[in-house]
Amino acid sequence: MIVLFGLRLCRVAHLERQNVPMNTKLLGINTKLIHAGQTPDWTGAVTVPIYQTSTFAFHSAKHGASLFAGEQDGYIYTRIGNPTVHALEENVAELEGGCGGIATSSGMGAVCTVYLGLLESGAHVVSTASVYGPSRGLLENDFSRFGVESSYVDTSDLDQVRQAMRSNTKLVYIETPSNPSMKVSDIAQIADIAHAGGALLVVDNTFASPYLQNPIALGADVVLHSVTKFINGHADVVGGIIVAKEKSLYKRLRKTMIMSGCNMDPHQAFLVLRGLKTLGIRVERAQQNAMKIAHWLEEQPEIETVLYVGLETHPEHELAKRQMKGFGTMISFELRGGLEAGCAMMDAVRLATLAVSLGGVETLIEHPASMTHAGLAREDRQAAGITDGLVRYSVGIEDVEDLIADLRTALNAIPQTADARRSRIMSEAGAR
Ligand SMILES: *Cc1c(COP(=O)(O)O)cnc(C)c1O
Repeated sequence: MIVLFGLRLCRVAHLERQNVPMNTKLLGINTKLIHAGQTPDWTGAVTVPIYQTSTFAFHSAKHGASLFAGEQDGYIYTRIGNPTVHALEENVAELEGGCGGIATSSGMGAVCTVYLGLLESGAHVVSTASVYGPSRGLLENDFSRFGVESSYVDTSDLDQVRQAMRSNTKLVYIETPSNPSMKVSDIAQIADIAHAGGALLVVDNTFASPYLQNPIALGADVVLHSVTKFINGHADVVGGIIVAKEKSLYKRLRKTMIMSGCNMDPHQAFLVLRGLKTLGIRVERAQQNAMKIAHWLEEQPEIETVLYVGLETHPEHELAKRQMKGFGTMISFELRGGLEAGCAMMDAVRLATLAVSLGGVETLIEHPASMTHAGLAREDRQAAGITDGLVRYSVGIEDVEDLIADLRTALNAIPQTADARRSRIMSEAGAR
């Protein structure tokens, strides 16, 4: 009897201990990835369960009314909030150093919510020229119908940002490193320019991941991610998330997300939480691979240019070093043989998968001009540094020797001119 009672007490004490949310704010990022927002529920479940429910019962009519009035915290309806989704929102908000997270059905759901929540008729947006294609298309084709104007400049050049600002500029919206041109924009300096002009700075941080870059600490007001990429990292979920620096912005954007109905589903959130736990080790491994591959590519006679922010030859290498905690996993390169050579190569890789998307455990290869950025006019692509021959390579966590062997095989498959073949034989002879 005494033993049983003792066990019971232990169990209750255990639950009480576990139910106290841990303050993870001062802990390291890999600890945050595992623990932030992940307080066990009343069952003590170590992993956040999938609360697969559309609606939540109120204890009483009064309780329901007080939840609707916002007088106390609690769940009402899954589009408004859900415990599985909330755990993800809390986690990413903490990784990004913001005051709240808003998970969305897709990355574009996050982009659309930010535009819808922060723009109005007559407003103007300054954006990165090579911004994610649909993020630009949405402004140019849809928001333009409601009187929103937008300009696209090379945001790695601060003068271009300054010159693009107008009296009605409400948002400066950047991506850094940019896709696929790998230009790095100075977040702190652009935050100053935006704020001096009365605009907010939004950073699409998808390419860097919260592991490598935290724009809020550098002055951004809102950060968003396509969680489809690094945050989930396993190519099995589409999703997005917004993190706001301040409560008022968070509330405004959450309301817009709820009204527009682009909430994340609990099952989606569960998978993303599972993927997110290993973000640190995935990014560390993949960027080690990326650095080796970038150096290897530089030495290949078939390659004209390699764009990787980790290379000392990269124009914004020093800025990337200051602004990011690592150089990431994305490489773009241009083949000497241009588009034709690029296509031959993409058809010949076996290990790297020919597919769009990025930031997963598997290596992907794609052709921006005909795939991700095909929606842009050719001159807009050229202005954004996206040449026809550019190939984008998202490095995964496979063994780097295998990835390099795969690239070598693919380069060998490029129909070569007699000159190129001769220079290759010479350089191989030189290497021996
Ligand atoms: C993929 C991507 C998006 C869009 O996200 P989805 O999850 O596909 O809707 C937005 N921005 C960047 C930089 C992306 O790579």
